[in-house]
Amino acid sequence: MCGIIGYCGNNGKASSIIFEGLKKMEYRGYDSSGVAMLSGDGLVVKKGVGTLEEVNKKYKLDKMPGYMGIGHTRWATHGGVTQINTHPHCDCKNQIAVIHNGIVDNYQELRDDLIKKGHHLISETDTEVIPHKLEDEMKMGRSLEEAVMHVAPRLHGSYAFLAISTKEPNKIVGTRKGSPLVVGLGDHKAFAASDSLALSGLIDQLYLLGDGETAVLTPDKTTFYDHTGREIHKKFIKPDVMWGESEKGGYDYFMLKEIMEQPKTLIEATNQDEENFTSIALDILRADHVIVTACGSSRYAALVGRYLISSVGKKFAEVVMASEFQYFADSVDKNTLVLAVSQSGETLDVIEGVQLAHKAGAKIVSIINRPQSLLGELSHHVIYLNCGPEIGVCATKSFLNQVAVFYLLAFSMVHCFDMAVDNIRKVGKQVSKVIDWNREEINRICERYYKKNDFYFIARGINFAIASEGALKLKEISYIHAEGMPAGELKHGTLSLIEEGTPVLAICPGDYTYRETLSNAMEAKSRGAKIIAVSDENNEIYDHWIRLPKVHELLYPIVAVVPLQLLAYYMAIKRGHNPDMPRNLAKSVTVK
Ligand code: GLU
Repeated sequence: MCGIIGYCGNNGKASSIIFEGLKKMEYRGYDSSGVAMLSGDGLVVKKGVGTLEEVNKKYKLDKMPGYMGIGHTRWATHGGVTQINTHPHCDCKNQIAVIHNGIVDNYQELRDDLIKKGHHLISETDTEVIPHKLEDEMKMGRSLEEAVMHVAPRLHGSYAFLAISTKEPNKIVGTRKGSPLVVGLGDHKAFAASDSLALSGLIDQLYLLGDGETAVLTPDKTTFYDHTGREIHKKFIKPDVMWGESEKGGYDYFMLKEIMEQPKTLIEATNQDEENFTSIALDILRADHVIVTACGSSRYAALVGRYLISSVGKKFAEVVMASEFQYFADSVDKNTLVLAVSQSGETLDVIEGVQLAHKAGAKIVSIINRPQSLLGELSHHVIYLNCGPEIGVCATKSFLNQVAVFYLLAFSMVHCFDMAVDNIRKVGKQVSKVIDWNREEINRICERYYKKNDFYFIARGINFAIASEGALKLKEISYIHAEGMPAGELKHGTLSLIEEGTPVLAICPGDYTYRETLSNAMEAKSRGAKIIAVSDENNEIYDHWIRLPKVHELLYPIVAVVPLQLLAYYMAIKRGHNPDMPRNLAKSVTVK
């Protein structure tokens, strides 16, 4: 959560460069934002509440004078969304400014101590202790980087932060533990940012800062230090150009663009190294236990994956919610294989569980979209989703590719990788059909039900997780309460909530689940529900029919989830919400 960026260079347009970088990272947090610049006038901070665009309109962040600075787009964890709590935060004398991503767990203790020493803290944030701690260190004669290296180990929790000071006006110092931070260098310019996406097109060299490492950036020289303060030489990576594409491409919102490009990006999921898959498949077969860990949409993809691994590969796998995984970590040993699924590869809940499993000797395989991630570094094998940058906060194309990757993996367990690749490529065309056939009907459904407060999604077998994913999408961006569940479960409690006109969305492809799901839908209809069916077969009990093409039963999740994404999207639009930036949420959840 939250995007941080720092820039120093011989280019007069520093604040507009920082602002453009923040725009590319707005998906990480968008409740408030701010910039601190160093110029002839000293340190100037401007910040405010609202979207980046709104804050910029008011404070002209992109026109601030100065040759270097730092910028932040926030997703509040500690302290309300107010101007005072917005980053950057400063020390008592307004000489040091800091931006931070993460949570300082021991901030209360540090804060009490600073106040006792006479510091004046004005915000409710955990972050504000950092500039004041730096102030104390610099007062003792330490340079900015020495101060950072002294303070960082005293912060418990997770952080990536950047600091600037009027006392050393030529540098930006950055460090991290747990939260991401990259450094990018171009011709006489240096950057640090939460995400390399913010630096696309601006740099020639990309460095991933390791946990506990510190970088000191100046326009002409960047120096790296390890956790002991010893200078180190790091290898750079060539920035990936594909990750530069982050435009809406003519669509109103990134989410719609990302839904529409799925027929194409799905094909990219099949561009994999067969040997990698074979070796992972063998590891899965050899392991005593297979645990899949993920959160949110990735967890629903994992539930589809578990089904595939079990029905095709004949191996039982357990899916554990990543935020709960740490409580099971004791049962993990060297004979366990952990499959970790995260679009960004930086989801803190996933990373923390994986770190424990790694320590216990488990084999780690991760399924990630973003290159150069913390999770990737922790893994023995990595499978990439290859769907390019996903900017909309809710997962769409990354979800589809996660399901496709699980499909390839399951078939690799029975030596049918090539056949699986063919099947996924063919189903890409079916995804186009689903979109073409149903956009109008989905808009009609939204028109009819957009004032409803509750939706229920039901399905059986492999599609149960798709019902949950459809409900999650609707909650995330249209703010309608929704629940997804196995169709058979409805009568064990939730049926009591069905009343006249309650929409029940039933995923009932004409496969082995058809009859039973239909009876469950009928049970709901008999109690007044309106049935919205997602199926390749029409039936008189449906009030609305979202038509699917006929595909093999293991491929229905791929075609069935797409209309549910569209339903959530159009519902959000109809209710007047921005689907790319749902309230209270952010992509890449880098806090616990
Ligand atoms: N904990 C800090 C705050 O609430 C940073 C939050 C973040 O990483 O988004 O301001």
